[in-house]
Amino acid sequence: MERLRNHYLFPEISARELEHIKKYPNEKVIRLGIGNTTEPIPEVITLAMSDFTRALSTPEGYRGYGAEQGNMELRKAIVKTFYGDLPVKDTEVFVSDGSQCDISRLQLLLGSNVTIAVQDPSFPAYIDSSVIIGQAGGFEDETGKYQNIVYMKCGPQNHFFPDLSNTLRTDVIFFCSPNNPTGHAASREQLEQLVEFAKENGSIIVYDSAYAAYITDESPQSIYEIPGAIEVAIEISSFSKIAGFTGVRLGWTVVPDELLFSNGFPVIHDFNRIVCSCFNGASNVAQAGGLACLSPEGAKAMLSVVDYYKENANILAESFASLGLNVYGGVNAPYLWVHCPGLRSWDVFNEILEKTHIITVPGSGFGPGGEEFIRVTTFGHRETILEASTRLKSLVLV
Ligand code: PLP
Repeated sequence: MERLRNHYLFPEISARELEHIKKYPNEKVIRLGIGNTTEPIPEVITLAMSDFTRALSTPEGYRGYGAEQGNMELRKAIVKTFYGDLPVKDTEVFVSDGSQCDISRLQLLLGSNVTIAVQDPSFPAYIDSSVIIGQAGGFEDETGKYQNIVYMKCGPQNHFFPDLSNTLRTDVIFFCSPNNPTGHAASREQLEQLVEFAKENGSIIVYDSAYAAYITDESPQSIYEIPGAIEVAIEISSFSKIAGFTGVRLGWTVVPDELLFSNGFPVIHDFNRIVCSCFNGASNVAQAGGLACLSPEGAKAMLSVVDYYKENANILAESFASLGLNVYGGVNAPYLWVHCPGLRSWDVFNEILEKTHIITVPGSGFGPGGEEFIRVTTFGHRETILEASTRLKSLVLV
């Protein structure tokens, strides 16, 4: 725990917001920082949860513990909806209380004796959970890197994909696509390279597809679209950003039967053991909601909320572009990744806050590769996004 970065990103942002509010008590602050969903969950989904909940008060509808791996009907629906013809079986799907929790359960599975690689920049939970479990033997150096973790730099210069010919071998590779924070969805060719690299090195890929529903181009929505991936990859995913379940809490992890440790033992057996010993299954109310999400009516309703956020992304991307800045992301993810060449990302954060009263996230909070960038969330009510857009258009960054 001592080795964790001292200042976790989001509390630091909140502290600066509080200071700002004290300084400008009459200004309305717009929060485009933390990636939290804002729009109501469609009723077809919440009604299923409330019906299930009310039934818990009846002798016929009461349910106690369920299967630790999740309700089989939901596991089947996840396979049908997200994996279609891909070689994923319902028995390989573990329903969970969200992918952040699964990241830590996977760390428990992998233990402290493995080496890891992450994209730089990346979602902070991969590194933090590695440090917590004891993988990062070294402390953070002056650039903000942990000495024992391999950082795979991903920026516009390499099409947001690491140069694998120069990447050190590790036991585990965390890979997020579409990426938080850059918004980049890896192409099929890029993912083929990644799978090949993992095969050559005997590495396990932990593939985070939490934002797959936001993909609008040809990019794969699952690592299992790549031939051979079932032998090297675990996929984690979530209902948080597709269905607004950030508070309800529901996700899943796929561990294929074909994925083996170097001694030939199936990884799925150990993961099952971790799930049974350290979890006890996702809330049955949340699972009832998940099942409703995957009904034809529920799926249509939840995807219309995704489209709403995508329109927000268009509006904000246009505002940042009008300032002459290069804007990445937004097309395949609910985040914009805005490049401010030559400027430090905390300085840009401060300047935008000071001049427009808008909270963003400094890119350096996602790793040293995020310096010169800010991340902007496109989750928000439309009127707030439009107001932010108006304020941004008159911004002059110095
Ligand atoms: N993975 C990524 C890339 C995320 O950005 C987030 C949340 O922002 C999560 C996982 C966590 O998702 P969950 O709400 O399912 O724990």
